Order: sequence, then structure tokens, then C-alpha cells
Amino acid sequence: MEEKYTISDIFGENVFSDKVMQERLPKKVYKNLKKTMAGLQELSMGDADVIAKAMKDWAEEKGATHYTHIFQPLIVSLAAEKHDAFVTNPDESGNMITQLSGKALIMQEPDASSFPSGGTRDTCAARGYTFWDVTSPVYIKTGKIGAVLCIPAVFCSYTGITLDKKAPLLRSIEAVSKEAMRIVKLVDPETEATKVGASVGPEQEYFVIDRDKYLARKDLVFTGRTLFGAAPCKGQELDDQYFGVIPEKVGEFMKDLNTECWKLGITVTTQHNEVAPGQHELAPIYSEANIAVDNNLAVMEIVKKVAERHGLACLLHEKPFAGVNGSGKHNNWSLATDTGVNLLDPGDNPAENKLFLLTLACIVKGVDTHADLLRQSASDVGNDHRLGAQEAPPAIISIFLGDQLEDIVKQIIEKGKVDSVIEGSRLDLGISTVTPMKKDATDRNRTSPFAFTGNKFEFRMVGSNDSISAPNTTLNAIVAEAFSDAADEIEAASDKAAAIDAVTRKYLTEHQRVIFNGNGYSDEWVAEAEKRGLPNIKSMVDATETLTTDKAIELFGKFGIMNETELKLREEVLYETYAKVINIEAQTMIDMAQTEILPAVMAYATNLAASVNEIQAACEDADVSYETDTLKETSALLAEAKKAVAALKDARQKAASQECPKCSAHSYHDDVMPAMTALRAPVDKLETIVDKDIWPIPTYADMLFEF
Ligand code: ADP
Ligand code: MG
Repeated sequence: MEEKYTISDIFGENVFSDKVMQERLPKKVYKNLKKTMAGLQELSMGDADVIAKAMKDWAEEKGATHYTHIFQPLIVSLAAEKHDAFVTNPDESGNMITQLSGKALIMQEPDASSFPSGGTRDTCAARGYTFWDVTSPVYIKTGKIGAVLCIPAVFCSYTGITLDKKAPLLRSIEAVSKEAMRIVKLVDPETEATKVGASVGPEQEYFVIDRDKYLARKDLVFTGRTLFGAAPCKGQELDDQYFGVIPEKVGEFMKDLNTECWKLGITVTTQHNEVAPGQHELAPIYSEANIAVDNNLAVMEIVKKVAERHGLACLLHEKPFAGVNGSGKHNNWSLATDTGVNLLDPGDNPAENKLFLLTLACIVKGVDTHADLLRQSASDVGNDHRLGAQEAPPAIISIFLGDQLEDIVKQIIEKGKVDSVIEGSRLDLGISTVTPMKKDATDRNRTSPFAFTGNKFEFRMVGSNDSISAPNTTLNAIVAEAFSDAADEIEAASDKAAAIDAVTRKYLTEHQRVIFNGNGYSDEWVAEAEKRGLPNIKSMVDATETLTTDKAIELFGKFGIMNETELKLREEVLYETYAKVINIEAQTMIDMAQTEILPAVMAYATNLAASVNEIQAACEDADVSYETDTLKETSALLAEAKKAVAALKDARQKAASQECPKCSAHSYHDDVMPAMTALRAPVDKLETIVDKDIWPIPTYADMLFEF
């Protein structure tokens, strides 16, 4: 019989939660740890020993044999881990007394030489350190390997240069909290708030397909996306997939996925089919930004593991299939005080909500000033296929506010005060049994990269396969800077209330060009954005250099988020990553074409030729035009493909031989990518001609529709 449980039975059972800490730690140690978590005091080694022992005992009761610092190196998403068992040397009688020391809990020293460091470290100087991040819960990960105690950690080099995505995020969280608190206090000197936290809710899109078909395609296995594949007879044109009934096989997988997430204290709630066939979405309830990032990384791992268990493969790539929608990860973001005030909640009377309006003005200023950095933060290799492709936001950053707010902003700019507010009217469908309700003051805009959605901003550019760490680090940083500038001005003024209004008006006026409520997919917007002077950064390679402009170095430096060295090394790692990813794609294409697809096509052509000969031998005046025409067409495409393979090899060689990482990345973008497109074209045409039985790899129809 199937096991039945409620969510509360299992929720958080594998988390070393606050409740577990209270139960298992001496009161004094618990209190000290809470102070460390609040950033108020260092953890003493004595307390660390007690905590480590409690964690180990708890983990062992749950079947764990190992522990690991889990960290986020500067490579393609996902986390890194090195397991150590709780073993020590046996005593004289051979008994094993297991152990986790306080020192091992706080700090580990993994060999860091194989992680990218953008040339900041010689290979011979290999030392790296991971440090426990006490603000993200410790948890137990389970799988065929057994149970492992996972300790979230930051990662740096021997010299203290951060080599990960978590350290800058934590610093940005502190920066935005500090600067936002200045604003909160200026607007409400009586406030009891002591902290402002960034809240994040990421919506994760993904595809699932049959695992055997996945394994039969080298492109999916090596690159996460299909490099060849003709469009199937049916795509997404009927709109029958979005919110459609979830297929049983996928439903079974989702059920298991939810259970795994809940056990880790991850509040997954929403699940539905997305626009493309085979595409789905999952979203948790939002949480503190650092925890949201860690949870999302865990979800990305779990979704793959659970899919495997169900004979499926989960594809997190931003564009696994050409011709249907790709996958994104909408990053919902807001700021709230520890007393529960959401700075982005307009409330019932937005026109009088000074904190909200000033916050909004600061966000508008931050986004306009650093549109390039925000664009960069959502760049990864796969996302280049999505942004600006009529299915995802354009590569131009703009802000959607909606009718109500745009009108308020207009009034503030024009007259410095708000006389009227557009309200959502009552929606009465005229059906006596349907209760009329007041509707939202504003419709949604699905084409905007940065849309206000009621009490939060939805950053819609982020790719499904990317970590949400950089987008949130950047958001926190650019808004911290605007808050800081605003607070400086207001603090210096004698009439604070007037200064709050004046700064709000000034920022909105100076940065209104970034506000756009219209259709972000239209060509007119591209032209209009250019007129407004908004950057239109088309690719990841072009976006990378924004990390090291004077403006960026000043921004991240001012708040101690990343120094110039840390920014430069990230820039270099991104160029290297881009080059490596495209290189793998090019090699995979060449390999698949040469060893799988083209030989199958040659066999087909030879068969055709033999059948022409045989038919003519049997019946001299038989009409073999179909066979000969097909043979001619096939041979012509074969010849085109052969040339394209040679051209791709040359382009790859050229890009690979460039000395500087930036030149190489640009060459992969400018030379290799077009050569890949040129090879795909004849091969995809061949797929529509050649006998299905001899086509060596699963087709789009096989993968997207046949479960
Ligand atoms: P959509 O209708 O846009 O697809 P979803 O329900 O899929 O929305 O996801 C919305 C996400 O936004 C959820 O993760 C939700 O918890 C999160 N969210 C809601 N309010 C806030 C907020 N104030 N700050 C940050 N995230 C929020
Ligand atoms: Mg959603």
C-alpha cells in the first residue's frame, strides 16, 4: 500500500532546524549561535565543538556517515562537495568513536587548484578554504550513496580572495540591509526595525523527457541541449500544453520531487505544465535571499535525481529544443524589515506611502544606472538563445510599473505630488452566481525583464540553468548604492520630510527613461530604447566586460562586495566558461555528424542508388524519378553538410588557438556559433527526407511527445 503522509509530517525532517537546535544544544550555546547568525558575535571554538557534536549525533541517527562543506564555485551552476566520513583512528581495542570537530564544522581546506580562479592563483598554490555559512540551514542529503550532512559554506583562496558565488551574495545582503535601514529610519524615526532582508522566490522551469531517449543523444548528454533536430509536425502552436493536465508519468515524478524538497524544508508549492511540450515549472514560497539561492541549487540537483529514478531526464538548459520556448527562472525579489514591513508594498494608499515611493525611486535609479550589470547578472551561455527571442524578455533592461504606479510616478515628476490614484475597478461578470470582486489596479506584462508585480519585482531574464546568486547580488548592490546616495542627501537636509519628497522626485525624473510599460518584444521598443540611450547588450560575451568598468568596480568596492581582483577573475572565468561550453558543443556536433548522422545518411543514399539500379534492371522503362530525385537531394545535402563540418572544424580551431580568454570567447561567438548553425541546417533537412528507421538518434517528436 502506498504510504500516506501530510506535508507537516515530513516537512524539514532532514534539516538541522531551529527546533532541532533548541532541542539538542545547551541553552547558552544555542543563544550564542543565534547571536553569530545575527552577525553580532564570533562563534567560540568551545561552542563550535558542542554544536558539531550535536549535528553529528543528529545526522548519525538519520543514517549519515559523511559530512561535507557544500559550496558554489565559479563554474556552471550546481554546488561542489567533498565528503569526509565521521571516522577517527580506532582506539586500542579497535573501537571506532565517530567525530565531527568544531574546527571541521567551521572551516575546511579543500584542494582548490582545479577550480577556476581566473588566473589569480598559480596551479602550484592550491590551497583554498571553505567557511561555514551559519545563516543557511545545515541539512542531510540522501541518495544511493547514503546520507551526507551538508554544511553550506563560502569558498575563498589561501589569500582570502572569494572564489565562489555565495560570499558576494552574503556581503550584498548585509550592504542592502544597512543602507535600507538608513532609509527606513529617515522615513520613520520611531521604527522598531533593526534589519532589512532581501526576499526571493525563484520560479524554476525545466523539461523532462524519456531517459533512454536522452541517453541516445550525445548532444543532450554532453551539452544539455539538442544541436540537431528538425521541427516536429506539432509544436506549441495550439497552446494546449500551458497549464494542461499533467501526464501521469510526470505527475508521479512531481510527487516524489515535492516530497524530497519538503523533507529539506524547501517550501515548493506551485507546479504546472509550461508553454512548450515537455516543459514544466515549480516554485517555492519566497524566503530570505541566501536561503532561496541555496534551496534553488538543491532543487536543481533533486529534480535531476528524482527524474532519473522515474526513467526520465530533466533538462535545465535554457534552450534544449529549437522552435519551442526555452526555460527561465523568474527571480521574484523584495525587501522587508524584521518587523514585517515590505518596502515594496504600495499598501492601500500608495500616493501617501513615502517609504514605498522612495524605495521605488531608488530601485528605478539603481536599475537605470546599472542596467548593464543587471543584464550581465542574468547572462549564461544557454540564456543567449532565449533573451530577445520573442519568448523571453528582450536583452534591453527596462522596468514595468503598471498603469497605477506609472500614473503616480508621472504625477510626482510633473507636479511633485499625487492628486489621484487609479484604482482597480470591480469586475462583475454579470453571472448572478459568480461573486464580483475588485480587480488588480494593473494588468501583468509578460514582455518586461523587470516587472513590478504587486509587492515585489520579478526579474524575468534569469536562465533556468543559472544560479540566482549573481542576479540577487547585483540587485542588492545596485539598490544599496541608490539607498546610500538618497540617505546621504536626506541626512544632510534640515527638513527631512521635504528632502524625502525631493529625492523621490529627483530620482524618478532623472531615471524615468528606464520605465517602459509597452510591448518589449516589438521592434519599435528596440528603436525607442536606443533613442533613450538604454544599453542593448546582445550576448553573454558582450555583457561580460561590464563587470570591470570603473562604475562596477566602484559599486562593488564601495560596499565590500567584490574588489577589483575578484571582479577581474570573475570576468576571466566567464570568458573561459563561454569558450569551453561552445567548444564542447562544436566538438559534439562534429562528432555526431561524422560518426552517427552522416554515415546513416550515406547508407540510405547507397540503398537508394542500389534500388534505382535494381528497379531498372528488372524493368528498363520503370519511372525511378522519385528515387533519383531523392538521391540527388540527399547527396547535395550530404555535400553541404560535409563542407559545413570542415568549416566548423576550421572555426573551432581558430577560436581555440586565440591566446586571450576574451578574444577566444568572442571568436567562439562570432565564428563558431554561425558555423554550427550552418551545419545544423542541412542535417535538419536530411532528417525530414531520410527513412525514419535509419535515423540514428531520437527525433523531436520522439522526445517531446512520446512518453
Ligand atoms: P507567476 O504567477 O508570476 O508565475 P508564481 O506563483 O509561479 O507566479 O511565483 C511567484 C513567486 O514569487 C513565488 O515564489 C512567490 O513566493 C514569490 N513571491 C511572492 N511574494 C513575494 C515577495 N514579496 N518577495 C519575493 N518573492 C515573492
Ligand atoms: Mg510562475
